[in-house]
Amino acid sequence: MTHLEEEAVDFVRALIRIDSVNTGDIATIGDGETRAARYVQAALEEVGLSTVFVEPLPGRGSVISRIAGSDPDAGALIVHAHLDVVPVQAEDWTHDPFGAEIVDGLLYGRGAVDMKDFAGVILAVARHLAREGIRPQRDLIFAFLADEESGGVWGASWLVDNRPELFAGATEAISEVGGFSVPLAQDRRAYLLATAEKGVGGARLTARGAAGHASRPLPSDAVPRLAGAVARIGAHRFPVVRTPALARFLEAFGEARGTTFTDEDLDAELDELGFVGRVIGAAARNTAAPTVLDAGGKINIIPGDASALLDLRSLPEGADALRDGIIDLAGDGVEVEWLRMIPPIAAPLEGPLVDAVTAAIAAEDPEGVVVPYLLPASTDNKHFSRLGVHGYGFVPLRVPDDFDVYGQFHAVDECVPVESLRFSARVTLDIVLRA
Ligand SMILES: [Zn+2]
Repeated sequence: MTHLEEEAVDFVRALIRIDSVNTGDIATIGDGETRAARYVQAALEEVGLSTVFVEPLPGRGSVISRIAGSDPDAGALIVHAHLDVVPVQAEDWTHDPFGAEIVDGLLYGRGAVDMKDFAGVILAVARHLAREGIRPQRDLIFAFLADEESGGVWGASWLVDNRPELFAGATEAISEVGGFSVPLAQDRRAYLLATAEKGVGGARLTARGAAGHASRPLPSDAVPRLAGAVARIGAHRFPVVRTPALARFLEAFGEARGTTFTDEDLDAELDELGFVGRVIGAAARNTAAPTVLDAGGKINIIPGDASALLDLRSLPEGADALRDGIIDLAGDGVEVEWLRMIPPIAAPLEGPLVDAVTAAIAAEDPEGVVVPYLLPASTDNKHFSRLGVHGYGFVPLRVPDDFDVYGQFHAVDECVPVESLRFSARVTLDIVLRA
């Protein structure tokens, strides 16, 4: 094992052992993020790198370190990872979630794939560059961030709003979620590169009518009207949209597997691809999910109003179609109020970082091919997009064909193959040097 690989594995383990659970609640959150950020800061400064430590609230620390590139005209690359993790139900685990045990080549712990793996890897890469005195072509901005699991309010979002100068000159970013190998065909693997992310939002539907005695119901009462709207929305399938990322994915997988994908039967066709198909299926169309219902309090009283909350996920350039669709489906007499909406993002399918990722994978895995996809979720890349930065999701991990990395996110007994972390360190170094 090279020094770089050895440090990457050690750092991932050390970070897992720092309990940095983000409960999303100021009353119960500890200072784990700051302890993790201080650990990273010390490791960076040990090799002579300068750092900026930022802590907008006690315990919510982030750390940033910029390595100057040789080409002042090349845009800077943000290389980022979040240091917080989601909570654990320790009694459900068969391994200590903060023990970083290695059993049969698998490293267990909260954050093993989300995302202390990449935090440890990029820390090792930054130290390698400093130790060897390697000057990258473009500025590299290493950012280790708090609060991603609760929307980045005290991490990336706060930094973008309050310390944008730390990211001056940045044009691209690399972080989660993607980069894992998935089976393509025969002995070939696809490494999925997230080039876009769905937007997330919500809506409240409200039907109003006359309150009254339940012995005299009308079809126009608030509850049946709301229920009709909820049923229509719940049963509706928004059309498949071949966004650039989806189109490229279907082309690459179709070609490799000798098949073509149709819009009509896309869900069933994607099912054939196994776990990766379900991720892609969720990213093929807008979605609206009724999640919360509220009406009435007593069985013999017709309530004057009834409401429902919808979780909304929109494709890039799909937000208007989603809103129009909800208004149509809600129908007359049901009010629609829009709640917070984090817009979708989309980066070009071509560019310096995409080229670097493609070349770095080809060098390590000649049977591997980089395939773009649209992530049906959100990452800190959304916040950096407000600075005009194109964000990509690529944490390189070559894993066995039956190892579902997506299934490890937020899961019990979250784990990552140690061998994959070594691969990740080599490929990530190669990417930042080629980018
Ligand atoms: Zn994450």
